Parts: sequence; structure tokens; C-alpha cells
Amino acid sequence: MSAGLNLAQQEAVNHLHGPCLVLAGAGSGKTRVITHKIARLIQTGLEAKRIAAITFTNKAAAEMRERAKGLVGKGAKEVVICTFHALGVRMLRQDGAALGLKPQFSILDSDDVTAILKDAGGTTDAATARQWQWAISLWKNMGLTAAQAEAQAADDNERITARIMARYEERLAAYQSVDFDDLIGLPLKLLQNHAEVREKWQALLGHVLVDEYQDTNATQYELLKLLVGGHGRFTAVGDDDQSIYGWRGATLDNLKKLPQDFPKLKVIKLEQNYRSTSAILRAANNVIGPNPKLFPKTLFSELGEGEPVRIVDCDNEEHEAERAVARIQSIRANGLGKDWKDFALLYRANHQAKVFEQALRKAQIPYKVSGGQSFFDRAEIKDLCAWLRLIVNNDDDPAFLRAVTAPKRGIGHQTLQNLGVFAGKYKLSLFEALFSSSLGSALSTRAVGGLHEFGRYVNDLEYRARHTSGAEDARAFLTDWLRDIGYEKHLYESEDSEKLAASRWTNVLDFCDWMAQRCGGQIDDTAGVTTSSEKKTLMEVAQTISLLSTISEREQDQNLVTLSTLHAAKGLEWPHVLLIGVNEGLLPFKLDDDDGAKGQANEGILQRLQEERRLMYVGITRAQRSLAVSWTRRRKKGREMVAAQPSRFIAEMALEKATTREDPREKLKALRAEFAKKAQDSAASTAANG
Ligand code: ATP
Ligand code: MG
Repeated sequence: MSAGLNLAQQEAVNHLHGPCLVLAGAGSGKTRVITHKIARLIQTGLEAKRIAAITFTNKAAAEMRERAKGLVGKGAKEVVICTFHALGVRMLRQDGAALGLKPQFSILDSDDVTAILKDAGGTTDAATARQWQWAISLWKNMGLTAAQAEAQAADDNERITARIMARYEERLAAYQSVDFDDLIGLPLKLLQNHAEVREKWQALLGHVLVDEYQDTNATQYELLKLLVGGHGRFTAVGDDDQSIYGWRGATLDNLKKLPQDFPKLKVIKLEQNYRSTSAILRAANNVIGPNPKLFPKTLFSELGEGEPVRIVDCDNEEHEAERAVARIQSIRANGLGKDWKDFALLYRANHQAKVFEQALRKAQIPYKVSGGQSFFDRAEIKDLCAWLRLIVNNDDDPAFLRAVTAPKRGIGHQTLQNLGVFAGKYKLSLFEALFSSSLGSALSTRAVGGLHEFGRYVNDLEYRARHTSGAEDARAFLTDWLRDIGYEKHLYESEDSEKLAASRWTNVLDFCDWMAQRCGGQIDDTAGVTTSSEKKTLMEVAQTISLLSTISEREQDQNLVTLSTLHAAKGLEWPHVLLIGVNEGLLPFKLDDDDGAKGQANEGILQRLQEERRLMYVGITRAQRSLAVSWTRRRKKGREMVAAQPSRFIAEMALEKATTREDPREKLKALRAEFAKKAQDSAASTAANG
């Protein structure tokens, strides 16, 4: 098992019985240590199902499962490889009853939460609701209850938000629903307050491995501590220089706390980078240099100096996109990278992708946008998920409200509002209220009739979903259901463009395919919630959908250029990386305080700058063989074009040859001509031979 591991990595892999922290820079093989350690643990006789490996994203989990499978074969299947959130779901489904949660509880997404907060806070303004959402999420991540948040509120604004939080929490309980933060907070509460549950999980888990440890937050750390118990059989790997989720409550304190909380902690450092050339690594080391060091470390590479890092200075975003496309094409034409999937365009903010998407399309280069709008965020998929959620958990009011109007079925806004008031008065969920014998006193006979019909239909579906398993039966179920509710017709009627309606309907069919496949039981669950290969009922599959954010494993193998935010690129690598929009104001992101602290180097601004610098470091270190960093002289601001500056990080990279003005388009033209000629020649010779 020591194959492909250096001595320090082997040491980490072989430290089996006590707490272990691998602290090392980018590309030094931390994630590799985790996969190899999974294999090692199985080899020493620990049952696979007693190993849990926690990753930062579902995608990383899927990738790790693949790699583990490559090392130990089928045995890896039973290892719990998932995100903290997916582990939380597993714990709550099994033991949530101790907290008053039914096993079929719903998981609300961000839009549901906004809607509930609007209601709880009595506003129609989504921006206000989202501000509350943000604050509440941070509090929850710090482990504060509404009462505690109110007690420590700094001003009236915070006090009001804390009171809204209390109402919000009441509603979640009534809906038998949890939000994403609860998926960590509630399991923690479970382990803190219920000794028997805690002991069960501690006995079950023989070893816990955590990747990207630097981005865990306070509640995740507490949860980890309780899961591993006093023995501390865990392996955490991380890099303080890659901590980029401070804005979401992640805290480097977790790194500092480890040696205090686990005095036997073995700390291992890795110094060799196996990913990038020396030129790329030097730029990365230079950028991160000015940040204060928590743990000093140096990185070196034996992959040779490699291509110099290119700085590409462009007139505007269109120009930048053109040059990016030209660069990709010329690298391919030169034979330095052959697959589209060898390339990634990385940027600070989602909105930057559009111009580049257009340019790639124009050049007929296949690409995918990751970390952007997910398949599950599309309106049609959310409609279908709402139905499924309602079937799983009748008390899920947000799902009820979406399903009952998708498609519209003659139940109007007023009826729903009256139903809501009635349900509130008797403390019932909307679905329960609908079958109440006294509903007739609050609603017209016609309205009650419509609601009953809907309720009965949901009950029928629920019954069938429980008794439908296997891909084929699931497909029949889904087809019947969509026909019953007239969903295709609804899409064509609600969409002006027929093309758009058709593409939305294709999404629906894709979704059904994917659901059906899952019922077939051959595919691992991407989120790691289920790993069994048996047939599953539609009900069981529906219970896990809210957590998934990728439509299928299919995408992974596709040969596509990646467009991604820097945050979503963490942990990944590509032979050729283009960092785009590296301008002041974008990367680093606007640092001025809106409240007038402009230009003052206060502590908050300094910390944000340090996090931005780490983000740049993450970006640079994704590259294996070549790196281009581009910026534009002018950028759009509203409708105007304004002058723009290169990011200070470009100077900090301290490249010997700072800029290149060489335009690859010229080179490309020549290469194209050469290719066209070759193609012509070969066509001519084929014709002559045939
Ligand atoms: P990041 O900080 O970006 O998450 P990491 O420390 O997790 O990086 P890995 O992704 O595990 O690094 O490894 C980086 C690359 O180096 C991978 O392609 C991996 O296969 C390779 N690698 C790691 N260790 C070795 C080794 N000992 N021999 C050969 N290749 C290695
Ligand atoms: Mg990694």
C-alpha cells in the first residue's frame, strides 16, 4: 500500500490508532493520503462501513469513492464517503426521533428558507429576508439558539433578527423541515444531549477522515469531536493557506484547537508538491507570502521549471474571452493538451462566466459551468422535487404550496391564503388542514372540493411510491404522474419560446431517468447517503433528493472545458488553467466598507484581503502544466465602461518576465491554415484511394 506515497505520506497512512493531522500546502498529496488511508484501514481489518471520510462537496465525495474503489475494489463501497451535511442527514434519519423529528423530514433549500423568512418577518422584500437568512445562518454555525442570539445582540437590528429567527425555527419544527445548517447543528445537539446515540455512533465509527479541514466551522468541529470520542481515531488533512470560507463561518481556530483538545495529536507536514511545475509553484508561494503564517511551510516541486506563467492584458471582457479561446485552441493545436477536459477557466464571481460561455459557444468548444446554477435549481426540477418532498413528508408546507400550483389546478391564491390562516389557527400543517372536517366553515365548497382532490391524489401517489421499486416500475410511475398532472402541456403553455419549453421538458425527462436509475439500485448515491446496491423504492430515493446537487455521474466523464468559480475549484486540478478577470475589485473583491470606512486599513478589511489572497493561491495552485492570468483595462460598471486596474496579486506573483503582449491569435491563424491544408490533402488522398 506504500506504492506511490512518499515517506511522510506513508507515516500519515500508517498512523492508525490515534489522532493525526496532515498540514500541508496545495498539491502535496493530502487528499491522496485520505484515499490510501481508507485502503490501509480496510487492509488492517477495519470493516469498511466503520470508516467515514468527509469531503467538502458531493463531487469530491464521488471522486474519492472512485479512487478508493480503484485501490480496494468493491470493498470500498461500504465506506461512508460524504459531506458533513450528508452524514448529518444519515444521523438524523436514524436517530432524529430523539429530537422530535420524523424520519421523513424535509430538507429546505435556500429559496424555501427565504420564503419562510419573508413570512416569519412580515416582509415581501427578498433582499431583506436574505439578510436575515445570512445572519441566522452565521448564528447557527456558531451554535447559537435564537434566545442566545437575542441575549448577545449588539443593536436593535440584531435583536429583531433574533426574534425573527425564533419564529422561523418554530415554523421549521411545524413543517417537519430542517435547513442546511440544521444538518450539522441538529446532529450535534443529538450527540450532546443523548448519551445512547452518542455511544452508538462512537462505537460504530472506527476511523473518521476529514479532507479540507481548514474550511470546517465551529459546529462541524464540535460534531467531529463527539463522533470520534476520547480515542480520537481520526485523520484530518488541511492547508491553512487555502481557508476560503471564512465568510461562511469557517474558522482557523479549528486548526489551533486540535493540538489542545487532542494532546496525542500527531502532526505531519508534506513539503513536496506533485501537481505543478516550479514556475507555477513559485508564483503561488510569492502570492501567499505576505499573509501571516499559522504554520510555516515550504513547498517544492520536482516537475521542472515548465512554461512561464503568462500575464495576459486585455482591452475588455470580450477581448479577454477571445484570447482565452485562442489560448485553448493554440495549446491543443501544439499538442500540449489534447482533451477539452484538460482546461479550466476560473473566476471570482458567477456572473463573469457569461461572456466566456458565449465565446466558447461561438468557437464550438464544449464546456460545463460548475459551481454555478445547478440542475436542481431549475424551476421545472424544483417543481418536481416539491411534489416528491410532499409525498415524503406531508407536513412540508413550502413543498405543498409549490406542488399545488405546479401546474396550476384552479386553486387560487385566496384559497391558499385562507387555508393558511385556518391551518395556523388550529396549528396544523396545510396538508392536515385540508382534511379537517371544519374546513368548510373557512372555505367555499368548491375550494374545499379542489383541495380534497389534490390531497387524495397526493395520498395515492404516496401509496404507489412506497410500493414502486426498480428502474422499470419507477419509470412507469413517473410517466403516469407527469401525464396525470399535465406537466408537459403546462411547460409549453407557460413558456413563450417553444425551444425553451422543449429544453425544459428535456430536463424533466433527464430527471426522471436519473430517478429511475437510482431505484434500479446499481448506482452509488453521489451524496453518500446510500451505498447499498439493492433495489430501492421511489419513496427511499425521493427522501435523498434534496441533498443532491449534481444530476448524474454522466457529466464527470465528459470531455468538457470547465468554467468554475475559484471557490468551487478547491481540491481539483487541471493541466491548463486560465485565471480570468484578475482585476482589482474582483480579485481581491471590493474591499471598501459600504459604511464609509473607505480606504482605512481596519482589521476587517485586512482579514478580507488575506482571505482573497488565499483564494488567489487556491486558483494558481489548481494548474499542473500551464497557467495564464488575465485582466482587462476596462470593465463594465452598470451600463458604462470604466477604467480598471490589474489585481495587486499579479505584481505579488513577482514573475521575472512580467507581461506578454504576444497575441496567440496570429499564431493560431497560421496553424489553422496549416491544418486546413492537411485536411484537404488527406481528403484528396482518401478520394483518390476510394
Ligand atoms: P489540494 O491542497 O489542492 O487539495 P492535495 O494536497 O490534496 O491538494 P492531492 O490532490 O492529493 O493534493 O495530490 C495532488 C496531485 O499529486 C494528484 O494528482 C496526486 O495524484 C499527485 N500525488 C500526490 N502524492 C503523490 C506521490 N507520492 N507520488 C506521485 N503523485 C502524487
Ligand atoms: Mg486535496
